[in-house]
Amino acid sequence: MAEPVADLCVIGAGAAGLAAVIFAAEHNPAIRVELLDGAKTIGAKILVSGGGRCNVTHDVVTPEDFFGTRHLVRNVLAAFSVRETVEWFASLGVELKSEETGKLFPVTDKARTVLTALQTRARDLRVVLRTGHRVLAVTRLDTSNVTGTDQSARFVIRHREGETLARRVMLATGGRSLPRTGSDGAGYGLARALGHRVTPTVPALVALVLDERCFHKGLSGLSHEVEVETVVEGRSVDRRTGSLLWTHFGISGPVVMDASRFWCLARERDARAEVYGNFLPGKTVDQAREWFLGRAADTPRRSLVKLVAEVVPERCAEAICVYAGADSQQACGQVPRSLRDRLLAALTRFLFPVVRDRGWNFAEVTAGGVPLEEINFRTMESKLVPGLYLVGEVLDCDGRIGGFNFQWAWATGRVAGRAVAASLAKELSP
Ligand SMILES: Cc1cc2nc3c(=O)[nH]c(=O)nc-3n(C[C@H](O)[C@H](O)[C@H](O)COP(=O)(O)OP(=O)(O)OC[C@H]3O[C@@H](n4cnc5c(N)ncnc54)[C@H](O)[C@@H]3O)c2cc1C
Repeated sequence: MAEPVADLCVIGAGAAGLAAVIFAAEHNPAIRVELLDGAKTIGAKILVSGGGRCNVTHDVVTPEDFFGTRHLVRNVLAAFSVRETVEWFASLGVELKSEETGKLFPVTDKARTVLTALQTRARDLRVVLRTGHRVLAVTRLDTSNVTGTDQSARFVIRHREGETLARRVMLATGGRSLPRTGSDGAGYGLARALGHRVTPTVPALVALVLDERCFHKGLSGLSHEVEVETVVEGRSVDRRTGSLLWTHFGISGPVVMDASRFWCLARERDARAEVYGNFLPGKTVDQAREWFLGRAADTPRRSLVKLVAEVVPERCAEAICVYAGADSQQACGQVPRSLRDRLLAALTRFLFPVVRDRGWNFAEVTAGGVPLEEINFRTMESKLVPGLYLVGEVLDCDGRIGGFNFQWAWATGRVAGRAVAASLAKELSP
């Protein structure tokens, strides 16, 4: 027997897809909702998120926490505030707690709590979940050729197990980060085939690999506050301060992850890109010199490394001294001017010898995707293909670290879920 036409077929059972089916089915319990996913078990990305704790959202979410067309991002976020998100999760049985950083996690500290709650709610709402259904193509039906019960279908979704007909389709296929979870960028191909553009996609929230001749290995595990600036073709495109983590391969930590998208985007278009670190955040080289001279005058016999270690961790101080060609044990009062200037330059404008990013297997999100301009922000419906909706990371919007990417997934899922349910209610009402 032929499968009945789905009122809504959502492709991708990640955060955005799960939110969308729940909101759609809650808003209009009469509709038949199908949720297809290529993975055998869903929610892999939710489970690994936030170090296994799932950073669900953030205390304060503003459009400035995202990269994407600002006013469109603002409108989408406004449709589902943090308070509403917290209440929604509470209604699913997931209590959230806020940490000092402003990040919100489930009180259980387990990402599984979030996934189970979403899955349970979707199941209770009779959403038909089909795992192992990798979608290969979505085509628009020429309804003039369709007869019988299929007449209402507008889309054919071809997948590994056959075909699904649907009145509405939603792409919730995610980006390209962590491809083994099932989010391997296939959704961009589906969007393109339907007529959408896709802006270049590059890893974001990703660590950076340094030239192996750099001293990073020796500092592995050390983290401290650093101001990171990205310069593209001689122009400063981003400057931010936060915790930098030295690793065996290079640099990571929130400040590097947040900055990485700029370096990756520049390299994608073959532009010259440099990443600089100021280990004395907020201080110019002149201010650093003033500090140095003052301290060297006060304690001239203090070793150079001890002096520098007043402002950066000692291991880093030692590495920077060596990098600048200084004898770290030399008395700071006796350091020649040229050496002092080299040291201060290294401290305030250190050129990280970045050779590459760590790649899709380590990136947390994707920068780039389907342009927001091609979507109606009130409904998340495509402006090009009526009946097609797009949510989550497949869109050209990425957030900084801290729960913002999930907030984007929940918010877009909610807007789309409710809108699609309302539009179906209109169509299906006698
Ligand atoms: C290691 C890691 C940690 C993270 N931690 C956090 C965090 O703590 N807080 C935060 O806000 N963000 C975090 N993120 C980012 C966040 O997980 C994503 O932004 C978010 O999951 C995107 O949701 P989505 O539903 O759009 O896509 P996804 O969660 O990627 O889901 C897409 C789904 O679509 C399916 N799919 C794709 N193509 C097809 C196809 N052709 N056919 C059928 N199914 C398909 C995939 O199998 C997948 O299940 C993290 C990401 C990673 C990788």
